Amino acid sequence: MAQIYCVANQKGGVGKTTTTVNLAAALAAIEQRVLLIDLDPQGNATMGCGVDKRALPHSVYDVLLGNCTAVQAMQSSPAASFQVIGANRDLAGAEIELVSMEQRENRLRNALADVQEQFDFILIDCPPSLGLLTLNGLCMAKGVIVPMLCEYYALEGLTDLVNSIKQVHANLNRDLKIIGILRVMFDTRVTLQQQVSEELKQHFGDKVFETIIPRNVRLAEAPSHGLPGVVYDPSAKGSKAFLEFAEELVVRNGGKLPKNGTKVT
Ligand code: ADP
Ligand code: MG
Repeated sequence: MAQIYCVANQKGGVGKTTTTVNLAAALAAIEQRVLLIDLDPQGNATMGCGVDKRALPHSVYDVLLGNCTAVQAMQSSPAASFQVIGANRDLAGAEIELVSMEQRENRLRNALADVQEQFDFILIDCPPSLGLLTLNGLCMAKGVIVPMLCEYYALEGLTDLVNSIKQVHANLNRDLKIIGILRVMFDTRVTLQQQVSEELKQHFGDKVFETIIPRNVRLAEAPSHGLPGVVYDPSAKGSKAFLEFAEELVVRNGGKLPKNGTKVT
């Protein structure tokens, strides 16, 4: 069974897309079969995988509305060995169009039911809101990965997200849980970040991932080359952290790491 994870946080600019794209490429580098689904109309994850969002034959919008199958919308990332269902501005309308549709929160889950078996991991990049698009992600997922900046206000936003996840768990998807909080764009020189990081650990215990993603300019540069950071510069600090994070996830799930190490394509 595929591990299906939403990368979610209702705040923008907290590293959701960077996490989804780099985790997909890092998992692929350790021989995991990965599908990335972009659920954000901005299509940043799509572009970050090297797929042109303006030239998608079918997008996640078509999948949600039943205009095509998941297989028809899937394509190989030109950047690394994983599959992508892309998104673009068409998806902005879906938030409204879905409202009157049957099974509106389960449309992604239903559409993907037949292909789940083909993957070890399905990663869903969510938009910065808790609307129907994110809800479709949460109803399909087994877990949520929450990227977080270790800043003062970050903890406040977390309460809203945790409450939403609890609601979805209680009413729509009994499988859903927070897999973990990922500390991203971390700068060890900033005392406040260390304090918030400690508070997070006290409050959430082992729900905080061991791996910390540092602030690293190579990760920020990579999307302009249509590449995940771990492919653009595998030796960069940030890329190494994502490769470690992928290993942490695989080991947590009782999976095996390849004997010959990572293969970044
Ligand atoms: P979100 O999807 O939550 O809106 P992004 O992943 O797009 O967030 O990240 C927001 C910005 O921060 C982007 O410009 C991205 O390149 C940059 N960024 C993300 N993670 C890092 C990092 N670890 N180091 C440096 N820059 C980062
Ligand atoms: Mg994003």
